[in-house]
Amino acid sequence: MRINSVHAKCHDPGSRTPRPLKPPEPGVFGLFPGYELNGMGFAVYRGRALAATMESMVSPRLLIVTDLDGTLLDHDNYSFTAAQGALARIRACGIPLLLNTSKTHAELLALRGALGHSGPFLVENGSALYVPVDCLTTVPADASRVGTCWRYEFGVSYDAILAVLAPLRQRFRFEGFADWDAREIARVTGLSQQAAVLAKAREYSEPLHWLDGMDARQAFEQELSEAGLRTTRGGRFLHVLGNTDKSAGLHLFRQWYSADCGETPRLIALGDGANDVEMLQAADIAVLVRSRAGVPRIDHVDRVITTDTAGPAGWATAVEELLNESGFPDSADIRM
Ligand SMILES: [Mg+2]
Repeated sequence: MRINSVHAKCHDPGSRTPRPLKPPEPGVFGLFPGYELNGMGFAVYRGRALAATMESMVSPRLLIVTDLDGTLLDHDNYSFTAAQGALARIRACGIPLLLNTSKTHAELLALRGALGHSGPFLVENGSALYVPVDCLTTVPADASRVGTCWRYEFGVSYDAILAVLAPLRQRFRFEGFADWDAREIARVTGLSQQAAVLAKAREYSEPLHWLDGMDARQAFEQELSEAGLRTTRGGRFLHVLGNTDKSAGLHLFRQWYSADCGETPRLIALGDGANDVEMLQAADIAVLVRSRAGVPRIDHVDRVITTDTAGPAGWATAVEELLNESGFPDSADIRM
């Protein structure tokens, strides 16, 4: 499938007269010289959103949200090499990709560059949503500006979490990032020491190794609940965080995006762990990326797909098949 034309008008901010865009090169979907895609798949000229791209030609529009560790990134070595082709296709098609992870804001700033990602992201298991300012035409209420993004917070501060955990250390056995230096975090996660420094820059959640029994864990979680906190299980750690999960910011972003583009997009969510369940259950299509720990149970979703392979290879296969089904051109037809 080839898409040959983008019908759009633009207004050059330097001139008072709107002028039509020239058609793109025949047979190639592409942007016009001087134009680029922003993180939401809108063609941008000098920072102004001009026209939806290929994504807007497929109805309903798609929105993809994905977990990182064990899903888009390999559980052991954090590689996403096997998913690079699918990532480039998503980017070229202008489909918004929302990253939804237990990682910190500092980690995401570094990782998004490597992934070539310029869209929105949620950090620390749904504790804060970041949306690049050029992604939305309106300023979201209650959001604060952080660098080049709007930030909307759902979690509680790291200091408040550590204050609740401090007296519980007398009664329960656990260790967490607050106890470890970057070298130890690198050892237990497999991250480089440089990446471990970014992982330690926590703002809203504390990853723990639980060293006590299951009964003790239930009593621990009850104490947290009374303090307005909860736990969620990731691929490596038990995370202590505020009363939020990976679906809260996702619902909000979907609302903003729907208001901006005038329709509710079809949501594809990809994840591998228990901390992804709320995100996966919010989706129209839930993709369970196979992992060694097994896949969580998902109910009340129109369609659930379980990949045959783990990590980025399984992620890429599922994404490519879903894009094929939706009628997006394949990589060979897109100049990326
Ligand atoms: Mg995961």
